[in-house]
Amino acid sequence: MIFRLEIGFALKKWTRWFSLLSLLVLVFPLIPAKAQQTQPDQPVYVVQEGDTLWEIAQRFHVSLDDLVRVNDITDPARIASGDQLIIPGLTGIKGVLTTQPVTYGETLRSISRKLGVNQQTLARLNHLSSPVELYAGYSLVVPLTEGGIPPAQRAMISPRETLLEQAVLLGANPWQLALRNNLAGLAQAIPGDILLFTGEDDGGPSALPEGIRAVALDPIPLQQGKAASVKVVTPMAINLSGSLVDHPLHFFSLNEETYAALQGIHAMAEPGLYPLQLQGQLEDGSQFAFSQMVPVSAVNYPFDTPLVVDPATVDPAVTEPEDEIWSALMEPATPERLWDGVFRLPSPLPVDYCLETNECWSSRFGNRRSYNGSPYLYFHTGLDVVGKVGTEIYAPAPGVVVFAGPLTVRGNATVINHGWGVYTAYMHQSEILVEVGERVETGQLIGRVGATGRVQGPHLHWEVWAGGVQVDPLDWLQRSYP
Ligand SMILES: [Zn+2]
Repeated sequence: MIFRLEIGFALKKWTRWFSLLSLLVLVFPLIPAKAQQTQPDQPVYVVQEGDTLWEIAQRFHVSLDDLVRVNDITDPARIASGDQLIIPGLTGIKGVLTTQPVTYGETLRSISRKLGVNQQTLARLNHLSSPVELYAGYSLVVPLTEGGIPPAQRAMISPRETLLEQAVLLGANPWQLALRNNLAGLAQAIPGDILLFTGEDDGGPSALPEGIRAVALDPIPLQQGKAASVKVVTPMAINLSGSLVDHPLHFFSLNEETYAALQGIHAMAEPGLYPLQLQGQLEDGSQFAFSQMVPVSAVNYPFDTPLVVDPATVDPAVTEPEDEIWSALMEPATPERLWDGVFRLPSPLPVDYCLETNECWSSRFGNRRSYNGSPYLYFHTGLDVVGKVGTEIYAPAPGVVVFAGPLTVRGNATVINHGWGVYTAYMHQSEILVEVGERVETGQLIGRVGATGRVQGPHLHWEVWAGGVQVDPLDWLQRSYP
């Protein structure tokens, strides 16, 4: 009952106050003993509308158990906005705390300057032992001080409104808005969502090199088997390069002020922190470089039952040379972006029905696989779209054919280059209806489903590649990249 003393201020409704009063009467015998502990030598967080205890524990990097215990909470499902929760583990620090996400380009130093809070306090509040731990997307615990961060305000996304439009209306930075609201990307906010925003466009000092106004990552955290979009906003023409999770980034001009790069995160990448490095040259010839850690999180891909196959199927002597040819095809990032918007399903099946029911694929991307008793070292590199021998295969987006021919494992295969390092590939076809060098348009018939190569039965194995790495094709049917 540590909220007792302050709760009256936060609660504006009399009805609520009365019910609380009756509660106080019930627990009256406890008051003299407990009142001592309400002296705030521990910092508190004021519960906001829509908060859950689990989410608060996550944001403040404390365990749910500790939060429940230190606050004497009997029913974790029943916390109310205005309640003050002690944040455990920070004895000696007083005041009200809040959290804000770290954006790429912010360091402990730049945040310390912006908020006027010394670095040691920030480090202590966040249990940071090294500045390297302050990765992009980190939920930073900060003191809510007068003249500091304004209290969070709320706004609801109305129907037909996107997060981008909402951000424009609020005068907020859309990327920060996404981060602040724990959205993986701008496309994730849906009508009816209540969004938190700080009400200030973040023009404060940043650790980014001069010339770079902002760097946005989508999604954040990055995810196994998903394409990462890296956007760099700069008012200048710069020569930009970089790397992410051991892959070189290929930046192209998206619009007047934005460069974008798409990079797949390997489906089996170890979850953890990886550097996102940026370097380049400004118009005046000066060089810059910046690096900050970004998180890669695990995706809950299912483990398929162990498969027993012809040992030749997984014999490295057979698979490796073909794998090399295959991945070399997807390596170049050509400067012309030939697609725009979401991809269409390369099958005659109705995509809405397929996405709703999951009935049009026999195996999804990313499933962990074991062959002939091996550990789960393998994963499913594409989406198996159901079909009979002869079912049409359509181009999902405009592109140029860069491979069309038979392979041992993959059967009759086609690869389409869509530009910017994005490729799609089609395997096990009965017929290939395009030639290398041919330009294809969305919905063009490019081949027919078959059972060529090493397969159990007819189906289309469809792959999407970004930056030389296979990514989940289903994402490309549901959102547009970059
Ligand atoms: Zn497959």
